[in-house]
Amino acid sequence: MDSLNDLNDRHRRFVEERHWQKHQTPKNLVMALTAEVGELNELFMWLTPDESRSPDAAHRQAMGEEMADVLIYLVRLADELGIDLVAAAHAKCDKNDGKYPKEAFQDEPLRPHEYKER
Ligand SMILES: [Mg+2]
Repeated sequence: MDSLNDLNDRHRRFVEERHWQKHQTPKNLVMALTAEVGELNELFMWLTPDESRSPDAAHRQAMGEEMADVLIYLVRLADELGIDLVAAAHAKCDKNDGKYPKEAFQDEPLRPHEYKER
């Protein structure tokens, strides 16, 4: 059980066994995904930068669970829309390679929002 397809199949079975398919519309999946991102966000709220890099064991466990919720809903949403999520992510990486050419950052470590195409 190590691929996004396996994860999607497992979650789809979970949904079917509970007769929740009618609720898993793209709109509802986006809303669930956003809610889970909010739950993840809440775990980081008010942490210092150092605390966010080194959470205690309980916090780290909770972060992993919320990240899993986000991943599950994202994978299901992609499946519902017929989007190959890994291919889409690679295409986006290709686009970012072109948008932020590495040569432009060799002399000055600009953050993305500071970079203007020249
Ligand atoms: Mg959650």
